[in-house]
Amino acid sequence: MRGKQILHLDLDTFYVSVERKMDARLTNRPILVGGTSDRGVVAACSYETRGYGVHSGMSMKLAKQLCPEAVVIRGNAGIYSKHSDEVTEIIKQETPLFEKSSIDEFYADLSGTDRFYGCYKLATAIREKIIKETGLPISFGLSTNKVVSKIATGEAKPNSQLMISEGTEKLFIAPLSIKRYHK
Ligand SMILES: [Mg+2]
Repeated sequence: MRGKQILHLDLDTFYVSVERKMDARLTNRPILVGGTSDRGVVAACSYETRGYGVHSGMSMKLAKQLCPEAVVIRGNAGIYSKHSDEVTEIIKQETPLFEKSSIDEFYADLSGTDRFYGCYKLATAIREKIIKETGLPISFGLSTNKVVSKIATGEAKPNSQLMISEGTEKLFIAPLSIKRYHK
């Protein structure tokens, strides 16, 4: 029996990407977005900071100690949400059924679209449209279920895509490190 085709889309380091879209000088520089007070927390960080052991959710104070050259940005929820809405609108137009699971993450059920277009082709076209129209990098995972698709997105990142064919889910999941599951 043919399973479902579930697409998971996740904008790459979303807050950082929006900041870079507004100010190109931030490109390729280590960026921390979040609370700037002593008790502030890192809401998002660019890939350039990861090598220093920085991750989102850690205290800003510690992140700044680990990566002193990082540019710290307070962030603007209203602007992020406006960009998120633009991406949502594209996904809404292009998919028969979708769910927004956070400001930068979406699931879409592409089952049944296969006969007309091919799920992977459709997913690729949606991703390309988002990048072209919003200028924001986004990655996707495509598989028969939400869990595997989300993990596939994490493996695809940054700014890429990965399809796990039906029947190969176990082979894909089995060798992954426990560290890979929360990306
Ligand atoms: Mg994201």
